[in-house]
Amino acid sequence: MKKAVYPGMFDPFTHGHLDVIKRGSMVFDTLVVSVGCNPLKEALFSIEERMEMIQEQVADLGNVEVDSFSGMLVDYLKTQQTNIILRGIRTVSDFEYEFQRALTNRVLDSRVETVFIMACEQYSFLNSTLIKEIVSLGGSVGQFVPQSVERCLMQKFKQVYGKSIE
Ligand code: ADP
Repeated sequence: MKKAVYPGMFDPFTHGHLDVIKRGSMVFDTLVVSVGCNPLKEALFSIEERMEMIQEQVADLGNVEVDSFSGMLVDYLKTQQTNIILRGIRTVSDFEYEFQRALTNRVLDSRVETVFIMACEQYSFLNSTLIKEIVSLGGSVGQFVPQSVERCLMQKFKQVYGKSIE
């Protein structure tokens, strides 16, 4: 039985992430989507909010679980009893970033393997930061994120900035 962990910030969850999950769920017997907390990156949504967003979107994928982790990914992999990390690649710049992370993780634990799935061309330009920027400027992100995520984003910006985003 092949199990992989798909770690990320998912802040917020986009159609690009969902595409990687759907493809990954066809490659692995079990896929654990795990929301990470990176002390160097401040997140807009709490871990619980992000997990809820993802759970809603993967509910019909029987072999996909949603979890969270803090600390080192290589240590978390042990608790999940797997050595496989799944990551998505959108661009050449992603490759450089992911290449460094994959090799670092392999130095930290030589059993760890990172497997990459190429982004769907339709979503290859999508990133969570851009989504947040568009919403903060009052734009619509309906094409880029699930409807419920768009609602959460509008609510969150209203809460955080006291701004009404129509
Ligand atoms: P992190 O900070 O861990 O990179 P992200 O949520 O930005 O967290 O990304 C998690 C993973 O999803 C990364 O492997 C990233 O390359 C991938 N990813 C992000 N957006 C897309 C997309 N539009 N299409 C495919 N993969 C994506």
